[in-house]
Amino acid sequence: MLYDTIVGIATLRGTSAINVIRVSGDDAVTAVASVFRGRDLSTATSHTVSYGHIVDREDVIDEVLVSVFLAPKSFTAENVVEISTHGGYLIPEKIVALLVARGCRIAEPGEFTRRAYLNGRIDLSQAESVMDVINAKTDAQLKLAHQGLDGSVAALVTGLQKEILDVVAAIEVNIDYPEYDDAIVMTDQIILPKLRAVTARIDETIVKAATGKVIRDGVKAVIVGKPNVGKSSLLNTLLGEEKAIVTEISGTTRDLVEGELNLGGITLKLIDTAGIRETDDIVESIGIARSRKAMNEADLVLLVLDQSASLTDTDRQLLELTKDKPRIVVGNKVDLGKRYDPLAGRMIDVSAKQKTGIRELEAEVRRLFVDERVIASGEVVVANARHIGKLKEAALALSDAMAACAKRLPVDMIEIDIRRAWEALGEITGESGSDALVASLFSRFCLGK
Ligand code: GDP
Repeated sequence: MLYDTIVGIATLRGTSAINVIRVSGDDAVTAVASVFRGRDLSTATSHTVSYGHIVDREDVIDEVLVSVFLAPKSFTAENVVEISTHGGYLIPEKIVALLVARGCRIAEPGEFTRRAYLNGRIDLSQAESVMDVINAKTDAQLKLAHQGLDGSVAALVTGLQKEILDVVAAIEVNIDYPEYDDAIVMTDQIILPKLRAVTARIDETIVKAATGKVIRDGVKAVIVGKPNVGKSSLLNTLLGEEKAIVTEISGTTRDLVEGELNLGGITLKLIDTAGIRETDDIVESIGIARSRKAMNEADLVLLVLDQSASLTDTDRQLLELTKDKPRIVVGNKVDLGKRYDPLAGRMIDVSAKQKTGIRELEAEVRRLFVDERVIASGEVVVANARHIGKLKEAALALSDAMAACAKRLPVDMIEIDIRRAWEALGEITGESGSDALVASLFSRFCLGK
């Protein structure tokens, strides 16, 4: 037996219709059979559901349905039993305690998925996508997560790895059977063109991944503007317009708030701007120093101006302060007339009060952060920051290899860089990489998954 048998509650605890308890390992069926009154589970075929009761000696704990999945065709590739119980706190806890008494161990967060990975049923990128599927809050996020889960991302990465291996193979063949006596000819004619081609493919993947990352992780945004320009009104309008409020928004109307909202399919993660709230002191009210920090953390600044009034020094200061950031100037209160369009440069006309201009604002956010062609293409897009980091490592190693070629270094030295690129890509799928990496990834999972 490679692993012990684990048990975990796969659903949220609390008042709900049902709970699911998941058991995985060699002894999963026997352990559950020993507390089950109903058919003999040890004779149950795979992928069947049995009705019965979980009992503690003579006491019935719950009326349940038990699903049996026999190795290797299960979520973990081990024997898996899922017990559907009534909801609530007590029943699942009691059943888990019973199974622990029968030798099962309480699963760590992510341990079921980790086993699926360790048992070779899925690769690391698929395992990570399990959490992405669970966490998805927009359709686009779900679509990306499915690409990861169904192995498309892994296939893309494996394809890139194969191209790199082809370069290595070309080197090996030519070292062993030198068609070219001259190593310089070999690097120029064989290695370099292949390296350029695979680097171009990786670079293209990285460029597309920028859109993927925005869809997956959202955009950190901060709303700034002097008092009374309509920041709170804008926020309320955005929240009111967009039915899909992702998390609850806390705070008062005076403190702008921290939270998430779905703007045209992109999750805007609002950074708390309580530090920029108004006070009586106009200088302090801008809180330039504090707002600078919030702005530095942000991917996007929404600078709200009241375009029905003249620009003030404060507006100009904020325009200056944010000019190098990805920024959208929101010209609010357009219903009261426009005073200074040319002064502020490109500006989106909005009336937070009359709820106009919101679609244009959404479109502007997408224009800044999303390459619509990437989305329309339906191609596989890498979105996970860890994966993007590894792609960049691989690209860097290949550029080192190309630099080594240019310096006419011996081919075996060039090969070291090329192998480094291959390994970096392997860390995406978990083919290469450390146990520590795997442990840290799975520790972020929820219990029972
Ligand atoms: P904040 O201090 O920047 O958060 O500004 P508020 O959202 O509290 O708005 C200040 C005042 O401007 C309030 O009286 C709002 O009703 C008003 N206001 C906000 N947006 C608009 C708008 O688009 N048009 C008009 N006419 N009034 C607005």
